[in-house]
Amino acid sequence: MSEKINDHVSLFNGCEYQDMFAAKEKYENAETAAKVQETLEWTKTQEYRDLNFARQDLVINPLKACQPSGGLFAAIGFEGTMPFVHGSQGCASYFRSHFMRHFREPFPTSCDAMTEDAAVFGGHNALYLGLQNTYELYSPKMITMVTSCMSEVIGDDMNSFVKNAKEQGFIPADFPVTFAHTPSFVGSHIVGYDNTMLAILQQMGVKKETKNDKINVIMGFDTYLANYEEIKRIFKLFGAEINLLSDPSETLNSPTNGEYKMYRGGTPLDDLRDAPNSKATLLLQKWSMIKTAEFIEKDWGQPVKVVNPLGLEGSDELIMAISELTGKPVPAELELERGQFVDAIADSYYWIHGKTFGINGDPDMAYGLARFVMEMGGEPIHILVSNGSKDWEAETKENLSKYEFAKGAQIWAGKDMWHFRSLLFTEPVDMIIGNSYAKYLERDTGIALCRIGFPLQDRHHLHRYPTIGYKGGVQMLTWIVNRMLDDIDKKTMYTTSYDILR
Ligand code: SF4
Repeated sequence: MSEKINDHVSLFNGCEYQDMFAAKEKYENAETAAKVQETLEWTKTQEYRDLNFARQDLVINPLKACQPSGGLFAAIGFEGTMPFVHGSQGCASYFRSHFMRHFREPFPTSCDAMTEDAAVFGGHNALYLGLQNTYELYSPKMITMVTSCMSEVIGDDMNSFVKNAKEQGFIPADFPVTFAHTPSFVGSHIVGYDNTMLAILQQMGVKKETKNDKINVIMGFDTYLANYEEIKRIFKLFGAEINLLSDPSETLNSPTNGEYKMYRGGTPLDDLRDAPNSKATLLLQKWSMIKTAEFIEKDWGQPVKVVNPLGLEGSDELIMAISELTGKPVPAELELERGQFVDAIADSYYWIHGKTFGINGDPDMAYGLARFVMEMGGEPIHILVSNGSKDWEAETKENLSKYEFAKGAQIWAGKDMWHFRSLLFTEPVDMIIGNSYAKYLERDTGIALCRIGFPLQDRHHLHRYPTIGYKGGVQMLTWIVNRMLDDIDKKTMYTTSYDILR
């Protein structure tokens, strides 16, 4: 039986498909293969690049997801919390499948499935029943709602809808329902993360007279689950108490043991309520928490430290920030880990030194990776993000201007993967670092791709490894240098190079 099952690798080579493709080409009166090839070659030229960069009203394969998806990711890291989409079923299904394909885990999300009548008469009735069903069927401890395009276009007032739902008895009056406006026609998943995190903190935090000794930590839109374990381990080594606000590391890494649990782990809601009373807050990303940082500083009156904990310099910043905030010396174990990381860099330096890189990803990730490749002697040439602002562009330019190896670096904010393709053909690099979607650029250009970022849907388990701190640095170094060596092996396959020692 199994020998009759073909996957796509062999299926479409079968004569029935090949004949169908040929017939389709004929029916569509397609251009000749020579003409197609000629046009393809033209798309690799500087002339085409200039046209491509002049386009204004069209985006092709942007490196971003829509706002609500980032909101759901912020929500799922809290104890017993059911993320909820006030919008159409299709939006919720897309978010769930997008995360599921990355984490290979169920990503529970409820939805009030708004349809045409809700678009005309308002989404309140759908929302009331959606809240009631979610509360009764899934027994959450908190529901966090985000909006989609449809509910934003018609201007639904979430605040009064939630109030009415409670007054009319659809859900108990004291049941926590937090909500954020996440219009998807502006911003991206990192803005949605920011809006939702801000809403949860604003709506759940209970300010007291006195501060405690804890430090709030928020990771930002960080899909490397091992990073959550890593930050807890580092705080433990310092002997300091952490209040990690949003921790999805258990619920998105559940065991297969015959029992499905919809909720696992997460930041206890009591800790969330107590967050305004911590003595300080540490943020591990900047650009996914602009509004959140401002709120914590102004409304909670806490000092906020922001670090980018990728690579050696970034990890040093992280460790020194914790030392400063806790008033404790750096533990010997972390000093040892630093030395081991430096040693690993020295071991691999000569394979990366002088190599050029094209990096794409979210703003914090792209900058952190650029700085990291320079620590290994690499030269970032293109740093491209779709969801970076002009402020990000200016700040990144200024930060990179301090580094010798960044002399050739070009920063591309608000550009998409089709722009990136033009850059790679007209100014090629030795390696691309990016998410799974960059695999088409690897195919097209022949430039090796090292997969770091989000989403990673065509390789397994990468999110189970850390990227932050010294241990995370060794992990990223391993991915990058080994991908470089794979590429050398591939290029020297039919030559006289028989080196086993690299
Ligand atoms: S862009 Fe709007 S309509 Fe599309 S999935 Fe996102 S929220 Fe839904």
